[in-house]
Amino acid sequence: MQQAIQTIDVIGVEVRALRARIAGDVVTPEDPNWDEARQAWNLAVDQRPAAVAIPESAEDVVEIVRFARDRGLKVAAQSTGHNAAPMEHALSDTVLVKVHKLRDVEIDPEARIARVGAGTIWIEAVEAAAEHGLAALAGSSPDVGIAGYSLGGGLSWIGRKHGLQANNITAVEIVTADGCLVHADRDNEPDLFWAVRGGSGNFGVVTALEFRLHPIREVYAGMLVFPQERAEEVLKTWRDLIPSLPDEMTTVGRILNVPPLEEIPEPVRGRSLVVVEAIYLGDEAEGAELIQPLRDLGPEMDTVMTVPAPALSHLHMDPEHPVPGMGDTLLLSDLPDEAIDSLLAAGGPGSDSALLSVELRQLGGAIARPAPDHGAIASIDAPFVMFAVGMTMTPEMGAAVHSSLTRVMESLAAYDAGQAYFNFVEKPVETGRLFPPTVYRRLREVKAQYDPRELFRANHPIPPAR
Ligand SMILES: Cc1cc2nc3c(=O)[nH]c(=O)nc-3n(C[C@H](O)[C@H](O)[C@H](O)COP(=O)(O)OP(=O)(O)OC[C@H]3O[C@@H](n4cnc5c(N)ncnc54)[C@H](O)[C@@H]3O)c2cc1C
Repeated sequence: MQQAIQTIDVIGVEVRALRARIAGDVVTPEDPNWDEARQAWNLAVDQRPAAVAIPESAEDVVEIVRFARDRGLKVAAQSTGHNAAPMEHALSDTVLVKVHKLRDVEIDPEARIARVGAGTIWIEAVEAAAEHGLAALAGSSPDVGIAGYSLGGGLSWIGRKHGLQANNITAVEIVTADGCLVHADRDNEPDLFWAVRGGSGNFGVVTALEFRLHPIREVYAGMLVFPQERAEEVLKTWRDLIPSLPDEMTTVGRILNVPPLEEIPEPVRGRSLVVVEAIYLGDEAEGAELIQPLRDLGPEMDTVMTVPAPALSHLHMDPEHPVPGMGDTLLLSDLPDEAIDSLLAAGGPGSDSALLSVELRQLGGAIARPAPDHGAIASIDAPFVMFAVGMTMTPEMGAAVHSSLTRVMESLAAYDAGQAYFNFVEKPVETGRLFPPTVYRRLREVKAQYDPRELFRANHPIPPAR
């Protein structure tokens, strides 16, 4: 690393030469736009790489990767920086390749395939696909990057029916450590194609992805909102309902402390609530029957209705612009009454929680069944994933969120399924915890084959097998 840092001190001239060779840009700490260039979507992350490269084409990425490799620097790909936190302190010898300008969407309605540039955000593909009556396995947030989300697994509202987004990828274009642009799919470079679908940015910089779409025009979806004091009966009723729900239905139980912000709809602004979100791929009468036990509890607000599929991008009310945040997660092996009681004591009414949201997402269905031709994340077995998050506008808020997260994590520790979900982990962890041991061994072997000198650095790094 020392050598790489010395190298960066003397490469000002070479950076200028690289700039001249690419259509995009390279920004260094000497440049006036440095702070803007190094900013991640998560504003709490202070990333300080050796340089930031902003390619405008796959050819630019090739030049940038060769430049970094030849000078002993590392390369980290980033599409938005939603998951920038885990590598915040590991970038001093790294060229951060921000791919947000590789941004285009093509839909093939006959083949039901989307092809997107690696900087495309979800809402762009969701809206383009909807014009053809098709839906993608997008997540809860409209501005999450398709690349990081898809390469790290991808839990979608329609995943219980159609599996993980990673296993709906049909091809990637990727610049590998030898500085070549490679097309990887089930027939070409199958090991690389397997590894990148779950092992994420450890194997190269993806410049484009292709993935399957599904014929869905409308969904029956929305939320049932109750005061947070009713959290115990609401969450237990919701949990009891789950065994009766088909794969077409996905639900989330959620404790919300909504901030008093203008942009938040008035009825929930500044309130402490318990919410059940429901998404049903089917007609209204069937969907209504499935959630009737929750309606019988008398929600104070009920937005569940038939809506166009793109409305799913806003259902969860995720922030649609950069914010400072801190989150933590657990995959849960079970959710008995004791788990709900313990969670509510730590993060429910009267707990003084500094968290904006603690959600329990229902998994199961196709998410739990290994997909044919799957990548490194074949499936996720745990029946629930917990994700908790708070906003950290000031250091004091950061400290309060950190201590609330610790309490919530401890409250559910007895139900920890052991493995964690790659995309929801927002701090450095031992990457082996994110995969079954045999999968992690194979990922390390593929890393040794494609990137033995560890040129590429991902949010969750996979070392090569030795
Ligand atoms: C508000 C919010 C809502 C979310 N909702 C969901 C959800 O519903 N379901 C879900 O599964 N996840 C969800 N996530 C988690 C999300 O999937 C991860 O944060 C994911 O890493 C974001 O991808 P990104 O490309 O936007 O982020 P980035 O931080 O840009 O990328 C994360 C990592 O992906 C890899 N990567 C990114 N681009 C490339 C590339 N071009 N080539 C190679 N590797 C690349 C890199 O290793 C990078 O470190 C959510 C996160 C937030 C903050």
